[in-house]
Amino acid sequence: MKKRIYVAYTGGTIGMKRTESGYAPEPGYLTEQIAAMPEFDNPALPAFDLHEYTPLLDSSNMTHHNWREIAEDIAVHYDAYDGFIVLHGTDTMAYTASALPFMLSGLQKPVILTGSQIPLCEVRSDARENLITALMIAARYAIPEVCLHFGSTLLRGCRATKISAGGFDAFASPNYPPLGTVGVDIDIDWDHVLPLDRGVRNRLTLQPLDTSAVSVLRLFPGIAADMVRNMLQPPLKGLIIEAYGVGNGPEKSRDLMDALAEASARGVVIVVCSQCLHGTVDLADYAAGSALARAGAISGYDMTTETALAKLRYLFSLNLTPDEIRATMQTNLVGELTRPDEE
Ligand code: ASP
Repeated sequence: MKKRIYVAYTGGTIGMKRTESGYAPEPGYLTEQIAAMPEFDNPALPAFDLHEYTPLLDSSNMTHHNWREIAEDIAVHYDAYDGFIVLHGTDTMAYTASALPFMLSGLQKPVILTGSQIPLCEVRSDARENLITALMIAARYAIPEVCLHFGSTLLRGCRATKISAGGFDAFASPNYPPLGTVGVDIDIDWDHVLPLDRGVRNRLTLQPLDTSAVSVLRLFPGIAADMVRNMLQPPLKGLIIEAYGVGNGPEKSRDLMDALAEASARGVVIVVCSQCLHGTVDLADYAAGSALARAGAISGYDMTTETALAKLRYLFSLNLTPDEIRATMQTNLVGELTRPDEE
């Protein structure tokens, strides 16, 4: 039987139209174009239904409420389709791809986010290839994960990050091998795909994310302790610090370390990620890292900032204590982190 794929079109460049003020999404436009392109009727492709969101968004306007809309949409249509494609703007695609694995617990079917750098309406565009390849992957391979397909790779969603504003290979997965490569052939690296769960848990359940305040702070030389102290005030519940290298910060700034320690003692969960794309955080390597640990911050290991942010929201939604959240942040849940001591 022909496979059926559900395509959720949330917005983004892929379906945009030229307007006087630049590319902008327009209702009905992508649907019309796809209907007019004979290749989408090719027998090599699965049957698919395209559902346009209202409003269609440039992904820069998305919030965690939109992640919930997408997750609910997949959950509602889960039993009726073999796989799911989310057409999404590239700017915040990695954030959505990082949040969905935590929200779609028990996922056993492929969910593939894709989009393009040039709209489908242009003669020279990456949109056609990305959409056709995503449709083929979703129909042919039972990958039980949220993935991101763009250009020549298929990546684990919660490992992906946008690395290029103009290239056709716009995303990378710096700390985890690609799940697949797309060239003349589509090669899936099954050794790196999560196993299918055939147990009792294989029902999809939707986990809405906590909407309370979490934030990201990128360290820079000369950062003011006062500014950080202000940021750490209620209602903030969690903070991702993008620190230097293996997780270092200005340990000689007593005020800054005190501000972090006071917030941690109040229950604010502080997670250290790295400004470097590759590698893992190790707070024991340098005095400048262990000072962050003494102030109550924990290692985010090799998680991307996008994933650390989504995971914090997820853990806050489970009503755990700050210490339980700290412990679970450092535990691999959906393939989002690798601890060097567990490799
Ligand atoms: N600004 C667009 C968006 O994220 C960029 C893109 O789709 O490539 O929606």
